[in-house]
Amino acid sequence: MKKILIIEDEVSIADLEKDYLELSGFDVTIKEDGETGVEEALARKYDLFIVDLMLPKKDGFEVVREIRDYKNTPIMMVTAKKDDIDKIRGLGLGADDYITKPFSPSELVARVKAHLGRFERLTGAVQEDNRLIEIRGLRIDSTARRVWVNGDEKNLTTKEFELLKFLASHPNHVYTKEELFREIWDLESVGDIATVTVHIKKIREKIEPDTAKPQYIETIWGVGYRFRI
Ligand code: CA
Repeated sequence: MKKILIIEDEVSIADLEKDYLELSGFDVTIKEDGETGVEEALARKYDLFIVDLMLPKKDGFEVVREIRDYKNTPIMMVTAKKDDIDKIRGLGLGADDYITKPFSPSELVARVKAHLGRFERLTGAVQEDNRLIEIRGLRIDSTARRVWVNGDEKNLTTKEFELLKFLASHPNHVYTKEELFREIWDLESVGDIATVTVHIKKIREKIEPDTAKPQYIETIWGVGYRFRI
């Protein structure tokens, strides 16, 4: 289970973040000031830190600086003021993302997942058994970046391949279009979630025997997509 440390002095916000992250399967710890936050961050292994900017004892800038001296774990900073984002960027502290209050909990969860996924790819921590996926005639070779359906090779574009591989690597997990967009496209890239819909359609045309009745990538109406296993 992935471990997340929230350093946040507003208890109601910290609890809300915790509830949503726990519902998504994360193990969450809260520290309410900068000083104990840094101590905890350095004392144990965490997979991601969520750090509020305005904190008692040590502010978020100092917290990030001290954590970064020892760890390359993804850090998301939380701020109540949009203006602070330029300041955070300008300081080059090494925070990986910024989110402004008020934010929706689902947005937070989506971003956390995106960062954990990106960090795993960067550090090569992705599980070995994800290299070759074989499900009901569909075969995805991540190393060779090739896809076959019942023995016939299908040519997917880079993004189509990444999207299919991501979904197939997390079977039965429903992802929103927003989550998929963040996962496959850069956070800063221009585009919108319609891109995801277009890519799903193209993938289906290539891999589904009948696109009207998709057997691999299911549409969950009003939510998003799921790779069925
Ligand atoms: Ca605060």
